[in-house]
Amino acid sequence: MAMAYAMDLSPPTFFSSLTPSTSSPLRRLSTLPISTFHRHSNRKLHILCQATAGTQPQSQSNLSARSGQDRLLKVPISKVRNFSIIAHIDHGKSTLADKLLQVTGTVQNRDMKEQFLDNMDLERERGITIKLQAARMRYVYEDTPYCLNLIDTPGHVDFSYEVSRSLAACEGALLVVDASQGVEAQTLANVYLALENNLEIIPVVNKIDLPGAEPEQVLREIEEVIGLDCSKAILCSAKEGIGITEILNAIVERIPPPPETADKPFRALIFDSYYDPYRGVIVYFRVIDGKVKKGDRILFMASGKDYFADEIGVLSPNQIQVDELYAGEVGYISASIRSVADARVGDTITNFSRKAESSLPGYEEATPMVFCGLFPVDADQFPDLRDALEKLQLNDAALKFEPETSSAMGFGFRCGFLGLLHMEIVQERLEREYNLNLITTAPSVVYKVHTVNGDTTMCSNPSLLPQPGLRKSVEEPYVKIELLTPKDYIGALMELAQDRRGEFKEMKYIAENRASLLYELPLAEMVGDFFDQLKSRTKGYASMEYSVIGYRESDLIKLDILINAELVEPLSTIVHRDKAYSVGRALTQKLKELIPRQMFKVPIQACIGSKVIASEALSAIRKDVLAKCYGGDISRKKKLLKKQAAGKKRMKAIGRVDVPQEAFMAVLKLEKEVL
Ligand code: GDP
Repeated sequence: MAMAYAMDLSPPTFFSSLTPSTSSPLRRLSTLPISTFHRHSNRKLHILCQATAGTQPQSQSNLSARSGQDRLLKVPISKVRNFSIIAHIDHGKSTLADKLLQVTGTVQNRDMKEQFLDNMDLERERGITIKLQAARMRYVYEDTPYCLNLIDTPGHVDFSYEVSRSLAACEGALLVVDASQGVEAQTLANVYLALENNLEIIPVVNKIDLPGAEPEQVLREIEEVIGLDCSKAILCSAKEGIGITEILNAIVERIPPPPETADKPFRALIFDSYYDPYRGVIVYFRVIDGKVKKGDRILFMASGKDYFADEIGVLSPNQIQVDELYAGEVGYISASIRSVADARVGDTITNFSRKAESSLPGYEEATPMVFCGLFPVDADQFPDLRDALEKLQLNDAALKFEPETSSAMGFGFRCGFLGLLHMEIVQERLEREYNLNLITTAPSVVYKVHTVNGDTTMCSNPSLLPQPGLRKSVEEPYVKIELLTPKDYIGALMELAQDRRGEFKEMKYIAENRASLLYELPLAEMVGDFFDQLKSRTKGYASMEYSVIGYRESDLIKLDILINAELVEPLSTIVHRDKAYSVGRALTQKLKELIPRQMFKVPIQACIGSKVIASEALSAIRKDVLAKCYGGDISRKKKLLKKQAAGKKRMKAIGRVDVPQEAFMAVLKLEKEVL
């Protein structure tokens, strides 16, 4: 498309704030590369460093103060627009957000790191947004300044509650779809969330610069699948800067301003919070009604905790202090809050002395869905692991953990996560940021167990499942899963879903070449390698989205592993009866390969209760006790062999088999694959 709007149509603020400092000679010196300094004499180096040290911070602070002030200029509420961007992973949400920040002069070119909104290293590396961020931009439209608040949403299903809260803080959303990929499963799920929140949706087709782009077809897909009117959709290329001004104009023209409710009692919706080691929890919120001033005593309605607002401000995207925030605005509060759990996403903030009558709708406690055990490889690291988990929990209220002891792996923790990505992220952060070396057990889900005496207990650890005689029935969580795939892979995906006890619900063609499949299947079947399988069976073309739909009764049993007749608890799993045999066989075979042979025969068995369903045996290492007998009487040989047999019997009776740690790790990995 020939829509070549150059991206450097920056508003005047951008240039006026940048020009004085770059023209200053001292500033120019300070931007010389380090290698240039080394070539100067010592004396010169000294002077240059002084100049750098003395002037740069000042000029920088002047600069940010000035551009900050521009962004802070008050605009009437009718000129405020709150919006977010909905997109599937890799469709260009971060790139577009970056461009919007650049074009509006919110972030200077030289400060621009790629993907400004993805602050965490891990996020930038993996190209996903985990935690939300927000940015206030100033945009001049037809000579009138507007304040645009971009509220970023995480794109992954594990965080759909956060997505719904951040959407609730907006009046509109940009729906970004890749022109070469089309609508994906996550896009759909998030658009439905946005529609539930009554948001104005602006369809944007991104990456039109790509040779494989088919914007017309993608527009048709959006119209047919989602039912949005695409006559005013915008075609853009976030990378090349095409269509960015059009997007900004559409935000101003089409997204409604927030309602004017500044005279009501203060109510604000928390859409994100994080823990800062120096200032405590920083809460990001959207003021829905009333206003908040610095120094106000505020109350968090769900947690019941109250604090004094030490500092309030806006995010641009760095924090800039202000004195007051009014209904419709987005900002942050710092109030020396010690834990993220006191100020949870979705909670309502109100004024302690002028309380709102009711809290805002939609607050939910985060309930972990996936559990696994985390053990330090080196037992000495247990206290470090506990400290690290406590620190992460300050920042991540959805993370749950409790100590767990295992005869094989020593002391560790059983941790609960929102989903698989959440689990992976926590593990990676523990290993990277806290230098821990961890073993993780196979992920499992929380089962609901009805016992014979009428109680219902939640069980997240296979070793705590009541004995068969004590339980009446077991329920497991089910998910509804939607798969979007090119039509060539429908067969492969149906096979995968069927394999995982999936119940087929619906199939429809969303475009000529692409179909959507709807299944209901147990969450336990998904926590293994379902996603990897989905990607490998479809060469990466399919996408999926799931939501938990509740508990259903299943024929579940506990599968135990016995080595040398001793129960090895960490290897116990809860499986469906139909799969018990194949899982049991795979586990015993793998263990046979991994456990070193002993002086005596070691049976390895997989059992359901007392019934052995799969069995392997490690043969004994045999010492040739007859080696020293050259000829001689047969009775002497017999005597030696008898003595050896008796010795082995005794050894077996008292002998313990040490299962090497690698064996555990390999088996746990195998469990992830076969379950
Ligand atoms: P996100 O996961 O939705 O945040 O997607 P990103 O913004 O990280 O973009 C994913 C990839 O697409 C990156 O490699 C971008 O450079 C690339 N990309 C984003 N927008 C465009 C575009 O307009 N044109 C092209 N060719 N590539 C783009």
